[in-house]
Amino acid sequence: MSQTKLSEFDIIQRYFKRPVADVDLGIGDDAAVVSPTPDMQLVVSADTLVSGRHFFENADPYKLGYKSLAVNLSDMAAMGAKPRWVMLSLTLPENLNETHPVWLSQFASGFLDLARTYQVALIGGDTTGGALNICVQIMGEVREKRYLRRDGAKPGDDIWVSGYLGDAALALKHTLGIIRLSQSEMNHCMPALHTPKARVELGQHLVDLAHSAIDISDGLLADLGHILTCSTCAAEIKLDAVPCSRVMKQHMSSSLALECLLTGGDDYELCFTAPKNNNSVIEQISQVLRVPLSVIGEIKQGTGLSVIDAQGKEVIMQKKGYDHFAT
Ligand code: ADP
Ligand code: MG
Repeated sequence: MSQTKLSEFDIIQRYFKRPVADVDLGIGDDAAVVSPTPDMQLVVSADTLVSGRHFFENADPYKLGYKSLAVNLSDMAAMGAKPRWVMLSLTLPENLNETHPVWLSQFASGFLDLARTYQVALIGGDTTGGALNICVQIMGEVREKRYLRRDGAKPGDDIWVSGYLGDAALALKHTLGIIRLSQSEMNHCMPALHTPKARVELGQHLVDLAHSAIDISDGLLADLGHILTCSTCAAEIKLDAVPCSRVMKQHMSSSLALECLLTGGDDYELCFTAPKNNNSVIEQISQVLRVPLSVIGEIKQGTGLSVIDAQGKEVIMQKKGYDHFAT
């Protein structure tokens, strides 16, 4: 297939420059200019997706575009922030633009469709050649000092988790040939891996209710562990209370599935702690937003995180979660 080679300028103009609201100066100048809402604070975060590490080289480009933004929206959710603006820095293999303009167009659609859903404006970025790499920087807003953080958990807090954990990790293990899912199980788990839902509305609702929050990107034990370290607390969680999909329940007898549930990562659910007084309000929020929320355990004094099974025995896991440098 022979295609005209697109310049860097063409790529930006054709695929990424779209009319956007709430921007003083968008794509096309040396930098973008935006006006934060008066009395709001900016919340800024970045996340990079690397080919061969965060996704397979042959990944569906629409879903890859979608996920690149979703994982960043998830960081905003964990802070209780309203996402507003986003920058996209792309490193693209030269042959991609020559032979696969469809790839670019689908990647951009996945990214921009999700941006539209959350009214987030793509205001700039960078485009260079090299091994495929996607770096997204996102900016959101919170009312002054009204944000969620990792260091506020208090002994006696309930520990909550949104959604169901482990399905994305099951899908990944299936893709790698480590476990076998049936077709219908795959249909259930693949969206968790490729098009995760960021809990953006939930995060904003929790700002006045939760003592601490984090999004689960590296696995429940690792990420809850960050809350405990930052808050100088311990925790006990009940294995039976960790929310599982029907597919996860089917596979729970295998230690691989248990690993997916507790340490798999890529869940992009929120884990948060809140005083028990707030339980009924949190349950109402769960109903209004139609996001399942489960209490999985309690924050304690001291240090350490223990997982207790239905027989009251402690469950010992080799690894707590995904670490790019320790695995
Ligand atoms: P400069 O050479 O001055 O750094 P660039 O050529 O890198 O400018 O970018 C030109 C404009 O296009 C800038 O506004 C930049 O923010 C924007 N831009 C570059 N790459 C992307 C991208 N992948 N997505 C969105 N905007 C981009
Ligand atoms: Mg540049």
